[in-house]
Amino acid sequence: MESAASRLENVRANIARMSKPARREPEDVTLIAVSKTHPAQRIVPLLEAGQRVFGENRVAEAQEKWPELRARFPDTELHLIGQLQSNKAEEAAALFDVIHSLDRVSLLKSLAKAMDKSGRRVPCFVQVNIGDEPQKGGCRIADLPDFIAQVRAADIPLAGLMCLPPADTEPAPFFAFLAKLADDNGVNDLSMGMSGDYETAVQLGATHIRVGTALFGARPSQDG
Ligand SMILES: *Cc1c(COP(=O)(O)O)cnc(C)c1O
Repeated sequence: MESAASRLENVRANIARMSKPARREPEDVTLIAVSKTHPAQRIVPLLEAGQRVFGENRVAEAQEKWPELRARFPDTELHLIGQLQSNKAEEAAALFDVIHSLDRVSLLKSLAKAMDKSGRRVPCFVQVNIGDEPQKGGCRIADLPDFIAQVRAADIPLAGLMCLPPADTEPAPFFAFLAKLADDNGVNDLSMGMSGDYETAVQLGATHIRVGTALFGARPSQDG
């Protein structure tokens, strides 16, 4: 079996290779290692190989796994990449360093309240429903300017825009569209690209890529 370190090296090499023709610096792409469903003993080898930015999609799972890992590797940064229920906003804002799934007014209000209470202001990406899919989370494209204005008014640090393009479709047009929306709204960072399409995302301006399978291998179970 391939080691965690060699997988990491491989992904990093791909980021560097795709940055060049796009005239970007590889350092401007933050690699988020998506460790959801994987137990701590699978995560430690990546930490030991130097990876420090990780993504989880469930608050409860992250609360179980990460306090101990962070005690050993204190400079670790933890990103929430999955849907967040408003009633978990306080716990999420206490545990995570960045949240990628801010997508509706009710959640915005809960997060603003949590941050006001704790005094800890957590940068958030606004998730955009880039393919306008009814079943999917994310702010509607038409509502985006107004929603961004509300995020700014609530004093939530706006990190950028995030998207998950429709499955089984060429992702490049959606990545390009997210970049344009960011431009139109004066937003800098772009969280886009997963194991299957992060190279395309880097070419199109991703500043944060969320890579699970390419670093950890297949997940043990179906998890959305
Ligand atoms: C699971 C997940 C990823 C990582 O997916 P891989 O295909 O394993 O790289 C990225 N983003 C989100 C939002 C996810 O839920």
